[in-house]
Amino acid sequence: MAHLNQRRFQNINGDLYVDATCIDCDTCRWMAPQMFARIDEQSAVYHQPNNEAERLAALQALLSCPTSSIGTVEKPQDIKVAQSSFPIPIEENVYHCGYHSEKSFAAGSYFIQLPEGNILIDSPRFTPPLVKRLQTLGGIRYMYLTHRDDVADHQKFAEHFQCQRILHEEEISGSLSDIEIQLTGFEPLELAADLLIIPVPGHSRGHTVLLYKNKFLFTGDHLAWSVRLQHLYAFKDYCWYSWTEQIKSMAKLADYSFEWILPGHGRRYHGDAKTMRAELQKCIQWMEAA
Ligand SMILES: [Zn+2]
Repeated sequence: MAHLNQRRFQNINGDLYVDATCIDCDTCRWMAPQMFARIDEQSAVYHQPNNEAERLAALQALLSCPTSSIGTVEKPQDIKVAQSSFPIPIEENVYHCGYHSEKSFAAGSYFIQLPEGNILIDSPRFTPPLVKRLQTLGGIRYMYLTHRDDVADHQKFAEHFQCQRILHEEEISGSLSDIEIQLTGFEPLELAADLLIIPVPGHSRGHTVLLYKNKFLFTGDHLAWSVRLQHLYAFKDYCWYSWTEQIKSMAKLADYSFEWILPGHGRRYHGDAKTMRAELQKCIQWMEAA
């Protein structure tokens, strides 16, 4: 819960505010850019919501903040409306889970609703309002984990939903040792029709990405959009295994067609398949020069 006595002075006056516990994770700024901006290396409210859509976006950001650093002066009477809006539809049957976890430094997580069983991609915070909503949408059959960093509350999700967790064996250690499905090798693997797991060693050795319907690419910490650079990029400063391997993995992705990049960290990106191919080439060139 945010505390008024820790309210940042950088916030514009009004009901909504960010307090000093903000970890500068960027979540509120991409979820509700109309209200939140980065001021002095932390988030702050620069515009108070003044219609229903802005109010909902602000409360969605408040609920998704991994450190509960966003608050309202007045107790939000409409919080249940915001809670019931999760997971937030992206396109078709693909959703953003929200409720980011501090355990994975606020990595985004996603949900695909499928007749043969739903898939949770990386781990949101295990919190009753979200768990109830995911239950209503049919529960979880698979919890697909891109790599070891963004696993947050995987254990609790596995216990509650009795889902099968999927992670590459190269990522397994400690509390991950009881992962049900441990991937081996570095060849793409078809999990089901329209669902392809593609190994992309680089950020970590066993990092994989998930391609759904040749349209949605769930990229974990492998690939994202940079607001600062205004192009697709990878995290060179947070490359734990091999930058050279990561460039090779990026080049392999050019063989596939997709329109959405839905990352753990960094911003999402949407473009038609042709634009995406061009953007990916630009990214590879940037990586080679970086
Ligand atoms: Zn990572």
